[in-house]
Order: sequence, then C-alpha cells, then structure tokens
Amino acid sequence: MVYDVVIIGGGPAGLTAGIYARRAMLQTLLLERMGIGGQIIVTDLVENFPGFPEISGADLAAKFEQHALKFGLETKNMVDVTGIEDKGKTKIVKTTDGDIETKTVIIASGTTPKKLGAKGELQFTGKGVSYCATCDGFFFRDKTVVVVGGGDSAITEAIYLTKMAKKVYIVHRRDKLRAEKINQEHAFANPKISFVWDSVIEEIVGKQVVEKAIIRNVKTKELSEIKTDGVFIYVGLIPNTGFADVEKDEGGFIVPYPGQATSVKGIFVAGDCRVTPLRQITTAVGDGAIAAVSAERYIEGL
Ligand code: NAP
Repeated sequence: MVYDVVIIGGGPAGLTAGIYARRAMLQTLLLERMGIGGQIIVTDLVENFPGFPEISGADLAAKFEQHALKFGLETKNMVDVTGIEDKGKTKIVKTTDGDIETKTVIIASGTTPKKLGAKGELQFTGKGVSYCATCDGFFFRDKTVVVVGGGDSAITEAIYLTKMAKKVYIVHRRDKLRAEKINQEHAFANPKISFVWDSVIEEIVGKQVVEKAIIRNVKTKELSEIKTDGVFIYVGLIPNTGFADVEKDEGGFIVPYPGQATSVKGIFVAGDCRVTPLRQITTAVGDGAIAAVSAERYIEGL
C-alpha cells in the first residue's frame, strides 16, 4: 500500500501533524523509535502550554496521543528510520522494520541531548552522570548534584532536582544564563541552588560511582572541586536528522521553507529538528499543523 503521509517522530509536532492529517482523511502512519510522546515524557512540569498552566509532561503527552488516536492515527513504535529514498511522486521510508511507500513524509524526529565531552562522563553514565532528572532524580534524595548548562533545560531540571537533592550546583560556562527570565528568577530564588559561573567541568571523578567534579574557571584558569553524587548534563541538543537527505544547517538542523517544506518536494519538517529561533511545545504543534496541511495540498497537486 502507498500511504498519503508518513510522520517520523511521535512528539508534540508529529502527533499534531497526525491529528491534522487524519482530519483531512489522509492515510497516515506515524513512526516512533521509542515510546509515543517524545521528550516531554521526561519533563516534570510544563507551565507554558496554553490552557494547561501546570501539567506534567507525561500527562500532556498522553493527552496528545489519545487525541491523535481518536482520529484514527496509525502508529508504530520501536521502529528506527534509516533513510528516505525520493522516487519523485512517492518516497520510500527505509526502516528497521522494512520499507514503507508514501506520497509525503513529515520529519518530526526531534533531538537528542548533547554529550559534554568531559573526562569521566562516559565512564560514569548511569553511575551518577545523567541526562534526565525526571528519570534519575529519585536516586539523589538528600544528596548533592551538579547541573551543567545555562539554558532552559539546565535551569528547569535543576529546579526539579531541588525537590529531592539537598544541594544543587549549576555550573555554567558564562556569567549569564540563556534560559527564560521566569525560569532564571525561580532558580535565583531557590535556596538550595548555588551558581558556579564562568566554569566548565574538567573531569568527573569517582571509584564505582561519581564522587566529585573537577571544575575549571575559564577566566582565571583556576581548578577547584565540588564533592557531588551526581552530574546532570544539559548542554544543548543534537537533531535526529541523519537519515534525511535534505538541506540542513551546519548543526544538522533541517532548513525549513514556507509551509514547513524542505529542499525536497513532498518532504516536510516540524518541531525541534528544524532550524528555528524557539524550541517549545507550542511551536512544535504549530509546525505539525502547518506541515500536515501543506502535505494535503501537495498531494492534491500530484
Ligand atoms: P540550549 O538552549 O542550547 O542551552 C545549552 C546550554 O549549555 C547553554 O547555556 C550553553 O552555554 C551550554 N553549553 C553548550 N555547550 C557546552 C559545553 N560544551 N560546555 C558547557 N556548557 C555548554 O539547550 P537546552 O537548554 O537543552 O534547550 C533547548 C531548547 O529547548 C531551547 O530552545 C529551550 O528554550 C527549550 N526548552 C524550553 C524549556 C522551557 O521550560 N521553556 C525547557 C527545556 C527546553 P551558552 O549559554 O554559553 O551557549
């Protein structure tokens, strides 16, 4: 069979594209390499999705999924996309579960947390080094943790960790945060959080598990250490776009054209994996809606 739309990625962008595509009566399949919901599943608290002033990421993801399923979206989990072959009027989506033919593709494959590249990071991953406070925070009750980064992920996850940990150090390479102002204010007001400015992690040290982080001040070059049980790393995102042969920027983010099109006709893009000034759930769902409507119009013109 030939699908009208294959959506790659089951986060807010992909699920919204699914809702709009199904409401346009398009034969639609959504592929997800893990569980449906995307990165918000591991977000403790979402406060900026209109209509939901306070909702857990997992609950919001479940609502998105139920909504898409209500309109008959077909989904397949645990399927990895390895490539897209452009055959003109149709595309072949190559997956670990076989080839799928479709008239259009919407890439909504999101991002993966970037590694820091510090000595000891790999060795202690799962033994104190983590990229997910919601998944691992529980293990740090009444303990000390270091959070690395100055963006929204670092700041919101540091605030979340204060619910369990007795002390949270935020180590940031500059003396200004990149995070939203309201998140900054919450962190500055939190008595459990201390900031270590102009500093990077030189090394993560321990025997079986993390015991301390060696910190280098980038201005004075001075080395110091923080005794810590965990290091949570939030230093940015890598787009999951390796399978797609479309125009990208130097970081691998897909360049969007009007209507969420890409450089290849019939392939559209939505959400965090595209070049965008803002990566939020609100922007992802907007992208998903536009991409699905563009796919519908493209199919009408075939
Ligand atoms: P980000 O905004 O790219 O921030 C990454 C942070 O890591 C920056 O502060 C950066 O420092 C630092 N960094 C990068 N490489 C580093 C290195 N090698 N060593 C030390 N520090 C390094 O990434 P993010 O925080 O994951 O956020 C990604 C997107 O999701 C953003 O658009 C963000 O707004 C959005 N988001 C929003 C929320 C929310 O609640 N609204 C929550 C999570 C994420 P510099 O500042 O010096 O570059």
